[in-house]
Amino acid sequence: MQITVWQADSVGALLQRGTAQLLEPGPDEALLEVLHGGLCHSDLSMIDNSWGVSAYPLVPGHEVVGRVVQVGEGVDPSLVGQLRGLGWIAGSCRHCSWCLGGEANLCADLEATVVGRSGGFASHVKGHQDWLIPIPEGLSPADAGPLFCGGITVFAPLLDEAVSPTARVAVIGIGGLGHMALQFAKAWGCEVTAITTHPERKAAEATAFGAHGVVALSALADQAGRFDLIINTSNHSLDWDAVVGSLAPRGRLHQLGVVTEPIPLQAFPFIAGRLQFTGSPTSSPASLRRMVDFCARHGIKPQVEHLPMAEINTAIERLRKGDVRYRFVLDGPV
Ligand SMILES: [Zn+2]
Ligand SMILES: [Zn+2]
Repeated sequence: MQITVWQADSVGALLQRGTAQLLEPGPDEALLEVLHGGLCHSDLSMIDNSWGVSAYPLVPGHEVVGRVVQVGEGVDPSLVGQLRGLGWIAGSCRHCSWCLGGEANLCADLEATVVGRSGGFASHVKGHQDWLIPIPEGLSPADAGPLFCGGITVFAPLLDEAVSPTARVAVIGIGGLGHMALQFAKAWGCEVTAITTHPERKAAEATAFGAHGVVALSALADQAGRFDLIINTSNHSLDWDAVVGSLAPRGRLHQLGVVTEPIPLQAFPFIAGRLQFTGSPTSSPASLRRMVDFCARHGIKPQVEHLPMAEINTAIERLRKGDVRYRFVLDGPV
């Protein structure tokens, strides 16, 4: 089958519109006609081969909302016509202990949507049926795309770690991930603090997303012993002593920003306060389904800027400069 794609032909290249051959959906796979695609920072990392796993031509895009147009063997044909979301993961082995235990995002044989295969900035993209998430009534398909990578990344630390609604939660970095984390933590029932380098610019919006308070990153030392959970979306090196110092006893620092330098942590506060340092990669299909239901119930959605798919290079260029409030969605047709 001939499909239309937006692809990078070499490291760091602008995307070019072209055509490619896409194999029919295999067993347990379904084919989506792409309607909307969120642009994630990981797409830039893939275009730039920052992780050394990119193959060119590269078709990025892993925050897809599309309509099922064809199903492979073993997939209920009634899926055809349904709206589904597809994120970073497009398949898992289904047989290992992690898959069987409901944590398929930890499977060693994951199929990532944009690694070694054609991603979502295309007319069509394939995924295994487990990872094609139904879009519930009440969730706008046009805005839902960023939930399937960015959204689940910040929802997992609440859902998968069973955070108490009485927790005091801080979110560091109010951007593509952080603005969704604020909404989730607020609806979860938590006391929510936004921590940002630009409180003067971000305070009003952070409050609108659900923050009860806004604190300047430079003033974090004043929050000693306060937070039960810190969700850190920043990929910059921070004053780690101040970050750890702001945790309450049994508090947890959950790291989501890929800081390239090592993170130096003092042992003593972790011993004395029974603290934890954790991280997580997206989440399971079950958690993705629970997330979209939670969003529909609480009116949570990413704040997105829409552009037609033909302006994808503009979106990439602006995301590289951090010039987006708060996430781009590229709209089809491709
Ligand atoms: Zn597995
Ligand atoms: Zn992503």
